Amino acid sequence: MTTIAGVVAVQGNVTEHANAIERAGKAHGEEITVREIRSSGTVPDCDLLLVPGGESTTISRLIHEGGIAPEIRDHVAAGKPVLATCAGLIVFGRTDDDRVRSLSLLDIDVERNAFGRQRDSFETQLDIAGLDEPFPAVFIRAPAIADAGECDVLAAIEGRPVAVRRGSIIGTSFHPELTADSRVHRLAFFDAPSLRA
Ligand code: GLN
Repeated sequence: MTTIAGVVAVQGNVTEHANAIERAGKAHGEEITVREIRSSGTVPDCDLLLVPGGESTTISRLIHEGGIAPEIRDHVAAGKPVLATCAGLIVFGRTDDDRVRSLSLLDIDVERNAFGRQRDSFETQLDIAGLDEPFPAVFIRAPAIADAGECDVLAAIEGRPVAVRRGSIIGTSFHPELTADSRVHRLAFFDAPSLRA
């Protein structure tokens, strides 16, 4: 049976995520069918969701205007897994920029563009809870998590959380879809009991 992977595709790194989940599925012996989510009506068919990086202001506005936001809430309420990266993480949490309409699905405070101009983009070998070896993590104008609330912190840089898990949601400040390493996808999806149920 094929697993239906939905990529929120209103804006941002859509192709990278579609390629990454197909690659990750192959690595884990899973057959994946990707659906790009541009309007309401697609999320309910999906077994798992990827919410990409891009511009959190734009993504949050379009998912609310398009009626996708309540469907994402239902997906999470059903215990189905989500991987939200960078701008996706911002949309799932709270930020003090009121142009971002949060989904409030992660009880976290997020600081946008937290790593400053000097380190706009960087790659680092990141220790992530649940992975044996460091992960090559690519950060692009990345947010940091100022307060992780009740979430489990999976990784941090200089004491600032950059990967969290709460229930069926994993959120990362970095872009696991930009490397060939599929271990973060495995953590988010292929080990997720809800997908196996
Ligand atoms: N800085 C962007 C924002 O605040 C996020 C960047 C990214 O997703 N790569 O929305």
